[in-house]
Amino acid sequence: MALEATPSFGPHLPEELLEKYAFGRSPESEAEAVEEHLLVCECCRDRLAAEDDFAEAMRALAKFDAHSAALSVLDRCEARFC
Ligand SMILES: [Zn+2]
Repeated sequence: MALEATPSFGPHLPEELLEKYAFGRSPESEAEAVEEHLLVCECCRDRLAAEDDFAEAMRALAKFDAHSAALSVLDRCEARFC
């Protein structure tokens, strides 16, 4: 069985490449290669979905933290002025 379209990665995308891609940190040439592999590899699509969930959770967490930090600053201000 021939695994085409993955000459530079071996049979599957390395974890760190998937992670970088999920976080949107891959340079364009690398992202293209990742997408090309994802087109032919369901296994790596599943792995990327897991990375995506993780990236999404991290983004949500970052957003939540910024939001709650802003809220607590607001709380402190209100406490001072009321
Ligand atoms: Zn793969």
